Amino acid sequence: MNTAFIALGANLGDPAATLRAAFGALANLPESRLVHCSSLYRTAPVGILDQPEFVNAVAQLATTLPPETLLDGLLEIEQRFGRVRAEKNGPRTLDLDLLLYNDQFVDLPRLTLPHPRLHLRAFVLQPLAEIAPDLVIPGRGSIQSWLPAVANQGIVRL
Ligand code: ADP
Ligand code: MG
Repeated sequence: MNTAFIALGANLGDPAATLRAAFGALANLPESRLVHCSSLYRTAPVGILDQPEFVNAVAQLATTLPPETLLDGLLEIEQRFGRVRAEKNGPRTLDLDLLLYNDQFVDLPRLTLPHPRLHLRAFVLQPLAEIAPDLVIPGRGSIQSWLPAVANQGIVRL
């Protein structure tokens, strides 16, 4: 079994309901078991500021799917939830990012692991630290050591 962490984000429609349904979709991925779900967090948008607030969360999966197959599964779930890919960092019904897969490094055009921005974002670090407080981010160190740097980013646990 492999351990994968997935970031969930939404800011259109009913984001909290979308994330709850998305946890269910993750639980139904083949060869996979949903191990932990974080709380939902309300967060301020990054980049394009003139858009609705986001709701974010993190899930932990135990899976025998290889990383690229898991990514395909995540993108397929995004499609099913009606994601329209418009502008980067713009509004979306559902965004699913693969954060970590064991302690693997991957550098492919369509998949970078660990996710290159995960250690910079409160909306990833805080839910991740909730379900995996002892996590070490490969190449970056303990998750606890990165939390203070994002303490000024607006995030509220729902
Ligand atoms: P973002 O999540 O950065 O706002 P998108 O969700 O539109 O952007 O992702 C664009 C592409 O990023 C995806 O098609 C995917 O192939 C690629 N990608 C690279 N690394 C990852 C990763 N770790 N998790 C998810 N997608 C990734
Ligand atoms: Mg994404």
